[in-house]
Amino acid sequence: MIFLSNVAKFFHGKPLFREVSLSIHRGDRTGIVGPNGAGKSTILGMMEGTLLPDEGEVSIEKRIRMGILHQELIKGNDGPILQEVMNVSDEVKQIRDRLRELERQMSRLSEDSSNADALIEEHGKLQHAFESFGGYTLEARAHKVLAGLGFDPADVNRRWSEFSGGWRMRVALAKILLSEPDILLLDEPTNHLDLESLLWVEEYLSNFKGALVLVSHDRAFLNRLVTRIVEVDRGKVSVYTGNYDQYERTRAMQEDVIVAAYKNQQEKIKRIQKFIDQNRVKARTASRVQSRVKMLEKLETVEPPAQARTLKFTFPQPPPSGRRVLEISDLVKRYGEKTVYDGFSINIERGDRIGLVGPNGAGKSTLMKIAAGVISHDDGIVKYGHNVKPGYFAQHQSEALTSERTVLEEAYSASPGITEQEVRNLLGAFLFSGDDVYKKVKVLSGGEKSRLALTRILLSPPNLLLMDEPTNHLDISSCEILEQGLSKFDGTLILITHDRRLMNAICTGILEIEKGSAEYFIGNYEDYQYKKKLMAAEEDFIPESPKP
Ligand code: ATP
Ligand code: ATP
Repeated sequence: MIFLSNVAKFFHGKPLFREVSLSIHRGDRTGIVGPNGAGKSTILGMMEGTLLPDEGEVSIEKRIRMGILHQELIKGNDGPILQEVMNVSDEVKQIRDRLRELERQMSRLSEDSSNADALIEEHGKLQHAFESFGGYTLEARAHKVLAGLGFDPADVNRRWSEFSGGWRMRVALAKILLSEPDILLLDEPTNHLDLESLLWVEEYLSNFKGALVLVSHDRAFLNRLVTRIVEVDRGKVSVYTGNYDQYERTRAMQEDVIVAAYKNQQEKIKRIQKFIDQNRVKARTASRVQSRVKMLEKLETVEPPAQARTLKFTFPQPPPSGRRVLEISDLVKRYGEKTVYDGFSINIERGDRIGLVGPNGAGKSTLMKIAAGVISHDDGIVKYGHNVKPGYFAQHQSEALTSERTVLEEAYSASPGITEQEVRNLLGAFLFSGDDVYKKVKVLSGGEKSRLALTRILLSPPNLLLMDEPTNHLDISSCEILEQGLSKFDGTLILITHDRRLMNAICTGILEIEKGSAEYFIGNYEDYQYKKKLMAAEEDFIPESPKP
């Protein structure tokens, strides 16, 4: 269906990758993995046909229907979501709009009108085309898919901008699924989804009959869905048969073989060099020394496996705050008619590390934005304690970063008094080195934007960290480093994440938010789950009525 042959991509004269050949056939299930910024989305862009290679060729079979999900959701028309998902392709939308226009014109025609025949003929042809796209059953199917993704029938006429991040992702998915594609190209589809919808999507994709190309950092998701892994790393692309676990095992074995070959060779070189050094001045052994020198020259050196670059940072010790960090009382927040909080209260104290949990749309991001002072509330008190310095990591970096600024400018703007060297040092720790700092924010990959947002937070050390899904775009090793950083952080933390492992490792309390009210549980995520199970069991337990 799609063939990349010997493709290369350069940015500012530097290759991102070269000599990449890949083919996608019907029914293939491919996972694309690799560190942030390696070029995964770029490869997907070529498969989609929107990005041209600088060398080599891309050929895409004609008339295949592609379902494409980009990493950052593009704001669509802000109409009712039912209409939005029914615009499955520009073609279908154009046909539907034209059919409506023709029907309007035909209703205004008088019988002897000269262009009646032409209108009727065009209408007939378009009706036929509309049917072949499944246009007439579209609405019924749209209702079904939206319901499958958890939408309440009453919500399908609400506008896109009224939905939370997780629900917007579901709208985008619904639209793609409705288009009945031959191939799905999905760039990190699990970001933003709560567990329930993630499982729904996983189930749907496991039954999907077309070809699947999936960029993801989620090991469990890849394990369940793909049978081939394409690894993009430091300019090279390698293909491995099997799921993610098999890929990791094969890679580890390959690395062991290379390390063993490297060690062997180093020992051999040492032995030869020793012989040369000891015998160099002896006439008797001159010819043997000569041949050894030649041997060394001819040796094809085995390179040790290159160490991947990883983030290096710790959160600086922040200036201490008072004991009371954040007081929220009687909070009321509405979006138009919708009330998200109606009299919510909580006190956060120094050293608390609280994980916010709850289904998509429960109000987690809203609470975080209010706590960060990014949006206003309608009533109640939101007050920081003495000497509190908040640092906010937004769920959608495109909302928080300025796309036209360069990486350096964006970092500077977080802490204007700092020297260029200090900014560059910190950017280096976040893997922006050399010319990378002159890149504009808008060209950065998802993971790079997250790293830049983290740099900005560190440039002006907070003692109250408010983080909304910080690991969403980060690769596996960056997530681990962030986890280490957070576990050593001495301040107060409020964290939204769907990553249960992260919450287990660092949270001391879980705040469960549902339908505007909240319940607080002491302990990490496992403790919280255990208590929830106990509570559910207690509810199920109905004592028998006493016997006479
Ligand atoms: P992530 O896991 O973070 O999503 P990725 O592997 O998908 O990363 P890409 O989005 O493909 O990475 O980006 C690859 C690299 O190409 C990044 O370093 C990005 O900054 C760079 N890049 C992309 N577009 C441009 C551009 N127009 N100019 C300069 N560099 C660019
Ligand atoms: P997610 O896990 O999907 O990110 P969330 O728990 O963070 O969800 P919020 O983003 O806080 O949820 O949204 C809470 C509710 O408020 C949702 O029902 C959402 O539809 C609604 N909402 C959020 N932003 C707006 C807005 N700008 N206009 C109207 N309604 C909104």
